Amino acid sequence: MSKHLLCQDCLAISEPSSNENATCSCGGDLCGCLTCANDAEKLLSGERDYRRLHLEAPIDLSHWSASSGIRALQAA
Ligand SMILES: [Zn+2]
Ligand SMILES: [Zn+2]
Repeated sequence: MSKHLLCQDCLAISEPSSNENATCSCGGDLCGCLTCANDAEKLLSGERDYRRLHLEAPIDLSHWSASSGIRALQAA
């Protein structure tokens, strides 16, 4: 049902594929539950306020990208 999978570590977004071994390229777990799918939709639509997402801790999302999540910040 879900359209997106959200990495629980770096918040990168993956599309569901036939590969059931759902792991992010960072090694984190991908989750496609309703909450994570909603968060992914918000991120894709430009939401950058962690308080509007289901995040427990403040995270700087200003450099977030769909392909590498917040790792784009760390690699810079
Ligand atoms: Zn990841
Ligand atoms: Zn989830």
